[in-house]
Amino acid sequence: MNTDEHGQITSVKIRVNPMQREPIMRSITLIVIHCSATRSNQNFPVTALISCHAERFGFTGYHYYITRDGRTYQTRHEQLVGAHAVGYNQHSLGVCYEGGLDEHGHPADTRTPRQKRALLRLLRRLKKAHPDARILGHRDLPNVHKDCPCFDAQTEYLSL
Ligand SMILES: [Zn+2]
Repeated sequence: MNTDEHGQITSVKIRVNPMQREPIMRSITLIVIHCSATRSNQNFPVTALISCHAERFGFTGYHYYITRDGRTYQTRHEQLVGAHAVGYNQHSLGVCYEGGLDEHGHPADTRTPRQKRALLRLLRRLKKAHPDARILGHRDLPNVHKDCPCFDAQTEYLSL
């Protein structure tokens, strides 16, 4: 930490691991899309997601969350390993949209036009930052027996 002549902090060196001179940067090879598995007629705001995950994992498992109104929230630092895809968390980012179930509770692509636009905007940005990362849906990972994210993300974002 450096201070100027008035004792003000001018710069702070961030160390992820105090034993290392430089922060350890993890490489991102997968961007995994999820849904919150909540009904399209039910609100599941980011605050609800955060408190639900805090109880289950102690932190928010996804890195990004997109609500039905098209707002994108960063819910975890990209350099921190998430909790969203068993066996694939180490080198992935988790992106979740609010919804994924119709009003009767059946799996459905409930993305609103605003959500679709926000998702595309976020994925373009993430792909630029992590060009080697593959984009796929949770259900596209091996041995996943879920419908999440309830649409064919791998095909939809293949050209990104
Ligand atoms: Zn999922």
